[in-house]
Amino acid sequence: MAPLVEVQGLEKRFSVGGAWLRGRRRVIHAVDGVSFAIEPGEVLGLVGESGCGKTTTGRLILRLIEPSAGRIRFEGHDLMALSPPRLWATRQRMQIVFQDPFASLNPRMRVGSIIAEPLAIYERAGATERRRQVSELLDVVGLDPAFAERYPHELSGGQRQRIGIAAALALRPSLIVADEPVSALDVSVQAQVLNLLMDLRRRFGLTYLFISHDLHVVLHMSDRVAVMYLGEIVEIGPRDALYRAPRHPYTQVLLSAAPVADPKLRRERIVPKGEVASPLAVPSGCRFHPRCPLVFDRCRVERPLLRTVGAGHEAACHLNEAPALLTGA
Ligand code: SF4
Repeated sequence: MAPLVEVQGLEKRFSVGGAWLRGRRRVIHAVDGVSFAIEPGEVLGLVGESGCGKTTTGRLILRLIEPSAGRIRFEGHDLMALSPPRLWATRQRMQIVFQDPFASLNPRMRVGSIIAEPLAIYERAGATERRRQVSELLDVVGLDPAFAERYPHELSGGQRQRIGIAAALALRPSLIVADEPVSALDVSVQAQVLNLLMDLRRRFGLTYLFISHDLHVVLHMSDRVAVMYLGEIVEIGPRDALYRAPRHPYTQVLLSAAPVADPKLRRERIVPKGEVASPLAVPSGCRFHPRCPLVFDRCRVERPLLRTVGAGHEAACHLNEAPALLTGA
């Protein structure tokens, strides 16, 4: 089966405030050479610290922002080559659930109008049919149809996020980019919204790019996981393989910090040195080298490339040429 989404060599560079430094423009490489594919019905988790480029990657795939380089294929179509009308039509099949459900919902619109808006924009149904579909969508996300008459400020955070999900479902998409969908919610409602997303995946055969800074949540939700650091994917692989045998020191750092219910599975906490480097001053060689507990000379000068370390599992670390050093075996 062909992948639903294929991304090759995706790049996004931002110029910073028109500033000039010694005659050279200052540029942030927010996303730098990212490649992956997502199979139909799969959940790919994209995890990394704030500012690593994961949200930008999600928006690039939807072409909410324009890539600086690279290719994006969706349902077999080259999104970069589509005419504006065909891109507009294709966008119905690709939707996003935002992090902050309060900021993403128009406070002056009733819930019913918010959910019906995509149907109206794409002229999918007349007014009566839209009302029927709004009731159905509210029921699908676990809310009473009477919520259609309310305004966003009358709802709790979890209810608002359910409205955001209902609006994303209105056009029956095949792909949903879920961008930190629970990080603005109380812990008590996070699990409910995550379970709803998994139910909807089963019910409608949805494919997710699930973006989060929380590796614990990503492991819970995903079939495969991609780990980003300073604009690059440093490890990607099946969830279980990546959890049991991470092959990049940064993934090991993230895993060691993730809470684990079973004390037997608890890992020794690995604390990386310093802070994430500024994207304006990306380190030479391996971008993780200033913080890496296993750094050695070669890391400072030679950029490691993603290489296969197992079935469907890749990591970008020189130590994978001598895995015993990486795993401590
Ligand atoms: Fe650490 Fe070197 Fe591997 Fe980078 S290449 S993650 S610095 S050991």
